Amino acid sequence: MAQQRQFVSRPEAQAPFFVGLDLGGTNVKVGVVDDLGRPMSWHTIPTHTENGPEDGARRMGQAIHEAIRLAGLEPGDVARVGLGSPGTMDIPGGRLVEPANLPGWNYFPIRDRVAHYAGLPLTFANDASAAAYGEFWVGSGRDFHSMILLTLGTGIGCGIIVGGRPLHGEHSHGGEFGHSIIDYHDDARVCGCGQRGHFEAYASATAVAKRTEEALAAGRASSLEQRVAAGAELSALLVDQEAERGDPLALEIVNETARYLGVGIVNLMHSIDPDGILLGGAMTFGGHASGLGAKFLARVKEEVRSRAYAFLVERTVIDFAALGGDAGFIGAAGMARREHRAEHGQSG
Ligand SMILES: [Zn+2]
Repeated sequence: MAQQRQFVSRPEAQAPFFVGLDLGGTNVKVGVVDDLGRPMSWHTIPTHTENGPEDGARRMGQAIHEAIRLAGLEPGDVARVGLGSPGTMDIPGGRLVEPANLPGWNYFPIRDRVAHYAGLPLTFANDASAAAYGEFWVGSGRDFHSMILLTLGTGIGCGIIVGGRPLHGEHSHGGEFGHSIIDYHDDARVCGCGQRGHFEAYASATAVAKRTEEALAAGRASSLEQRVAAGAELSALLVDQEAERGDPLALEIVNETARYLGVGIVNLMHSIDPDGILLGGAMTFGGHASGLGAKFLARVKEEVRSRAYAFLVERTVIDFAALGGDAGFIGAAGMARREHRAEHGQSG
């Protein structure tokens, strides 16, 4: 459950301070956090991808200064900025590659342009890695040494932390687990990336709505029909609500989704072997705070239990993420802090 976080005030906050940005296709969330990962301010600006990346970089520079002002600080008080951006990207090169959510921004040298407009040093990161790092630093993963965050939304974001370090891979594609193949058949579902059979084409929130829509179009009877006719949006949440009321089709879809997620999670357990795997994003149904969320998590764990090495099942935590929509900017700031500390000979 995304909690409403209180801002820590300037006198209570602990220096040094960091700014984090979570760049998305629609909005950019920008906030300041203190050395303990506590937010001091945040605000959002529209991305306006259609105006091009140079305009975006310029407005992100302004938004960084606005967040600093809202936190009661001066730019000179900020040690470093972290920018979490959607992939694909080239992290060492500081540029975007072909980000599906930022049309027209291909190959833009975003790290140096945003740093230029902000007048501050900047750490460039994958948005899913940044969110995972946020959970690792101050969220559900704060007791873990290695962990994975799966963000279940339009697609499936995956951020991997191994031994306290975000895993970028040698070509900045280390967390593209949403595009791992869970069905190799020629008629497998087509993913948003254009390839067939990928994990997110089955288990993302969008995929759940799509699978349900297809079943209804094929003539399956379901209480979902009445809900949709009455104006409800066909979403993963609606499907889960109807499953809870005993609708057989909705229940079948929810169980199938838990199976897909379980398969993906077991693949991650058997390759990375983390302390924990956290689920975040739209398809967490209110998390522990709601009966729906708790039941969904139990279903996913049951799938994992039946498919993973028993030795790992006993030792691997599967839980909800804690920071909600704040994980991205908090984690980006955390990755900036990590780089700042490394530059100053501090660990962690
Ligand atoms: Zn894909």
